[in-house]
Amino acid sequence: MTETPLISVKDLSIRFRTDEGLITAVEDVSFDLAPGEVLGLVGESGSGKSVTAKALMRLNGDNTVYGEGSSIVLTPPGEAPVDVLALRREKDMRRVRGGAISMIFQEPMASFAPAISVGDQMVEQLQIHSSMTKAEAKELSIEMLARTGIPEPARRFTQYAFEFSGGMRQRAMIAMALSTKPRLLIADEPTTALDVTIQAQVIDLMKDLVTEFGMGILFITHDLGVIAQTADRVAVMYLGRLVETGTVREVIRNPGHPYTRGLIDALPKLHDLDAPLTPVPGDIPSPLNRPPGCVFHTRCHMAEKGLCDVKVPEYRIRETGQSIACHFADAPVTAKEPA
Ligand code: SF4
Repeated sequence: MTETPLISVKDLSIRFRTDEGLITAVEDVSFDLAPGEVLGLVGESGSGKSVTAKALMRLNGDNTVYGEGSSIVLTPPGEAPVDVLALRREKDMRRVRGGAISMIFQEPMASFAPAISVGDQMVEQLQIHSSMTKAEAKELSIEMLARTGIPEPARRFTQYAFEFSGGMRQRAMIAMALSTKPRLLIADEPTTALDVTIQAQVIDLMKDLVTEFGMGILFITHDLGVIAQTADRVAVMYLGRLVETGTVREVIRNPGHPYTRGLIDALPKLHDLDAPLTPVPGDIPSPLNRPPGCVFHTRCHMAEKGLCDVKVPEYRIRETGQSIACHFADAPVTAKEPA
């Protein structure tokens, strides 16, 4: 990646203070995301993908401890870099949250206050992040509702979130998130709760908007199939670590990590819909019980005793740029971190 990344995450480690002691949720995660790029962050629940995404907006709770050396640098095109983890004042954080970075969630009701109309919430958000008058903010909000395919946007503007259908609410949330023209959109399982047709429409809409606004998207999901339709590159997480990154095409065509291979085998096969799905065997261990060595060794059919349960694998980089954290990946160790 030659241009300045929009967001550059380096050696990010996140722990939470709990009654049971410090729990590691994310360990040594590094990735870059370019302007106009869609990066899919994929993994089972408990893999640390949402915790990583929330760190970009400093949305994790007060019990969060960032590891020494962790760094998140946001560089909106044409602007000075912002060291996100160094932000202390609420005013500076607001410039990032909902300004440079917006987030949409699986459950859109979480984004809307129930007793305030959708339109009033959109106007309020726009006025926080711009110098628009109320009338200008209203006009733009109605335009964004229309752009996201909501019929009768002026009437919908006056309604409450509970008066919208599920798919419509999702669109309204996207309209609100995009109205401030964020440089980075974080989409956390945005289509999981939707039926397949609406899911496809929402994905198409997001892709159109990326092209139009040139923003970057971090798309978080447990579903590699959704990533295949949406993202340019993919980063696969397992128990707080990145195990494989690369272009979607390369990773899906030629996965290098046994866990990625397992996720692909668990996808329905279009050419043989009757073929049984083979989920990755076993469950993701509790973060309270992180396995030593390779975090995946308790579920890996290739694990070698005395190596995988002892030594953390370094990243091996294929010529394609695909980076794989496995002792047995078919590539030399050429760098510690994925790009
Ligand atoms: Fe499996 Fe060992 Fe590779 Fe980990 S390092 S993925 S346990 S083979």
